[in-house]
Amino acid sequence: METEPRRAYAEVRALNGDGPYLVAFAPCYACGRLFSFDPELVPSIPVDLVNRLPADVGEHGPGAIFQRLPVCRDCIGRANENRRATGRPLIEVAPNAYLDEG
Ligand SMILES: [Zn+2]
Repeated sequence: METEPRRAYAEVRALNGDGPYLVAFAPCYACGRLFSFDPELVPSIPVDLVNRLPADVGEHGPGAIFQRLPVCRDCIGRANENRRATGRPLIEVAPNAYLDEG
């Protein structure tokens, strides 16, 4: 049985006093590892909520509903290795997208 990613958002203040921002904790869509991220900055991919396949993989029904799901830094690194090898543009990672890494 699949479960929707558990998300816990906590409003915190930035150390530099720039105001509140959101921190999210969720399993990576690709590997399942729990990680923390800024939901507005994290790289994500649109996934078909019925068959759980990314939008650019496999077949999708006419009424498919896609939701962007977060992907961890390690999986983005692996995706970029494949993209580099096949000459596709790399996925850019915004500074501060991941909060559990230095
Ligand atoms: Zn991952």
